[in-house]
Amino acid sequence: MKLTDKAGFSTTCIHAGQEPDAATGAIITPIYQTSTYVQEGLGRHKGHEYARTSNPTRSALEANIAAIEGGTAGFAFASGMAAISAITSLLRSGDHVIVTDNTYGGTYRLFEQVLRRYGLTFTYVDTSDEALVERAITPATRMIFVETPTNPILRLTDIGRVAALAHARDVTLVVDNTFASPYVQRPIEHGADLVMHSTTKYLNGHSDSVGGIVVARHEPQVEWLKFVQNAAGAILGPFDAWLVLRGTKTLAVRMAQHNENGAALAGYLARHPKVERTYYPGLPDHPQRELAMRQMRGFGGMLSFDLGSLARAKAVLEGVRLMALAESLGGVETLICHPASMTHASVPPDRRAALGITDGLVRISAGIEDIADLIADLDQALARL
Ligand SMILES: *Cc1c(COP(=O)(O)O)cnc(C)c1O
Repeated sequence: MKLTDKAGFSTTCIHAGQEPDAATGAIITPIYQTSTYVQEGLGRHKGHEYARTSNPTRSALEANIAAIEGGTAGFAFASGMAAISAITSLLRSGDHVIVTDNTYGGTYRLFEQVLRRYGLTFTYVDTSDEALVERAITPATRMIFVETPTNPILRLTDIGRVAALAHARDVTLVVDNTFASPYVQRPIEHGADLVMHSTTKYLNGHSDSVGGIVVARHEPQVEWLKFVQNAAGAILGPFDAWLVLRGTKTLAVRMAQHNENGAALAGYLARHPKVERTYYPGLPDHPQRELAMRQMRGFGGMLSFDLGSLARAKAVLEGVRLMALAESLGGVETLICHPASMTHASVPPDRRAALGITDGLVRISAGIEDIADLIADLDQALARL
């Protein structure tokens, strides 16, 4: 399919990177479940030699998501963590990285428990405050790693402003765009150099695959990531690549519904007398609602609310019938979880407290079910308090 530069977001999601199969005309890119490719003669092949280096299903996904994010090239990995690990291979021993303070727990673990051993250093700051970012920059700073919105408090970082700070000092800005999805937020448009996703979440969207992607813009980084994907080898398999491609076709319609359900649940919870506090970028009391309106399309499907105590949170978490008590996010089904004991259990209690992750906090990944059913479910669970 020839896409013009002006193709809209949904058209890009459905068609970018994909051609009808040359041999059969199959409209859907096949799952090329193969490890190697037969060569016609010495040095004569059809562009693929070995499946760690390249696989047509994976290549289709990489081109698809690169177009969706507005980058030059994409690289698909076995998980979101493998994607982040590949990004950090751009660094050298002695380099310093500034990281959003309440970044995904797995990212913190990789940086602190693995990469520090290789002479990299990390400073965690509230990147929603650009003055703190600027103050944390040292002569050794080579990368700023931002997550926006953050999990589970949904604090935002102004990508454009941090990009300006970074680029004035030749520092690379990376945005983990997993929580927003490219429908809601396209960091490259705001100046990010690299965008990554855990495709496990919204991009796949059906809770049936684990994967990651890095989208790059600039030539030296594109070349290095391509090299490292092959050299380190943490590639996404063809079946998982196919599942994510299936997912991105419906990204726009799914995200519109995630946005709508997220906003409706947040509004319901914000008005509920038994809820102490609700966190959602679209609520009038969110301190960065204006930034959300500039930087995001809709406010996303993630929200959190505080019930004041562990006992009350437990009653609701165990009282819901339709919502599933589970970690992860971004699937079509609504998930509910307890950050303090689940996703953020490895974060020390004093750090959790500083980030607002109390024992009474509950997080919801709003699915795309009928909103009346979701509200009825919360209603009966909150009635138990
Ligand atoms: C899940 C997640 C990751 C890690 O991705 P995996 O696919 O689980 O390895 C990284 N960042 C964010 C924001 C996530 O939600």
